[in-house]
Amino acid sequence: MPVLSNIRLLSTPLAASPGRIHSIDHAALVWRDGKILWTGSEKELPEQYRTEERWDAGGKLVIPGLIDCHTHLGFGGWRTEEFVRKIGGATYEEIARAGGGIASTVAETAKLSLEELEHRALGFLREMSSLGVTTAECKSGYGLSVEGEIRLLELYRRLSERQPMTIVPTFLGAHAIPASADRKSYVASIIDQMIPEIASRGLARFCDVFVEPIAFSVEESRAIFRAGAAAGLRPKLHADQLSDGGGASLAAEVGAISADHLEAVSDAGLERMAEAGVIAVLLPIASLYLRKPWLAAARLRKCGVRFAVATDFNPGSAPSCHLPFALTLSVAGNRLHPEEALSAATIAAAAAIAEGDRRGSLEPGKAADFAVIDAESVAHWLYHFRPNACVMTVKDGKKIYEARN
Ligand SMILES: [Zn+2]
Repeated sequence: MPVLSNIRLLSTPLAASPGRIHSIDHAALVWRDGKILWTGSEKELPEQYRTEERWDAGGKLVIPGLIDCHTHLGFGGWRTEEFVRKIGGATYEEIARAGGGIASTVAETAKLSLEELEHRALGFLREMSSLGVTTAECKSGYGLSVEGEIRLLELYRRLSERQPMTIVPTFLGAHAIPASADRKSYVASIIDQMIPEIASRGLARFCDVFVEPIAFSVEESRAIFRAGAAAGLRPKLHADQLSDGGGASLAAEVGAISADHLEAVSDAGLERMAEAGVIAVLLPIASLYLRKPWLAAARLRKCGVRFAVATDFNPGSAPSCHLPFALTLSVAGNRLHPEEALSAATIAAAAAIAEGDRRGSLEPGKAADFAVIDAESVAHWLYHFRPNACVMTVKDGKKIYEARN
């Protein structure tokens, strides 16, 4: 039973008051069999733990393992050219006409074998774990055919079995209409073929749709969510990113666990989300790369919406899996308080993927998922942005990353 001691500050949200960070000076943390047994001031460490194996936190900050609750982890290729063209002023339509956008990633993904995709994804997961991330939600959506979508979800199943991070899989067949497909028949294939097969094999927990006039209409999305929910896949949305298209209201109507992006959401949409308990997931790296207005934290607070922050890691609009970078942007751009940002990437992110009873805070009974950060406080960590301030990541009680001195 290891004891992590010499913690300068242990900062964690608590399940009972998730909006507030609970901090303990000169703290210790005890765990056994991957589960937390005790946290508190080192002076109050119970007698029975005093002789156990000690790990020294070096007087650093300890936070819950970070949870990236929105990624598109499995993909082939990159879209560097497109990034440069967009900086030069090319429009979405021009990019799409030149063969770019989601369609180009679908083509690049199809060129890779499952082993090659796995190799790439393992590299990204190692990078994420070195930053203090211990759980990632991963969406399909670069297959856009029955076989292609199932292949990406099979990739996530393999990743769950072959590396330590928790992977939460989401089906996003409704990411885009494939160029070669007829709209109606593609939506029908999602409802009649993909959802039943994926649900019967337990390959996904959530059903996501890119609800936007350039992607799927509210009516198409509603039909997909109904089919998903009937098969046991809870709705999640890419909503109101480019326009206020009614995505937030639809999220409330279908009982979605989260609605993500929301750069263009209306207050009426946010109010409906608050009433229905839908979590807003902010994706500030995408706001930065697409030069979209930051959704102000003040509006979320005013409407009473709970919020999380994630990377949206994908090769188009958010080509970075650096969750602490997203958190710094959420503070500087969305104007979250640093402690709200920590909650947004831990306990609220856990709630956005239905993991809140197991992870997201450092409390007895929860998974021993935590990160040791070289900073004096949460605010200092997010203010003084560095390539990597994480010195150790522990997942289910086991060290999965340690910085070289
Ligand atoms: Zn996304």
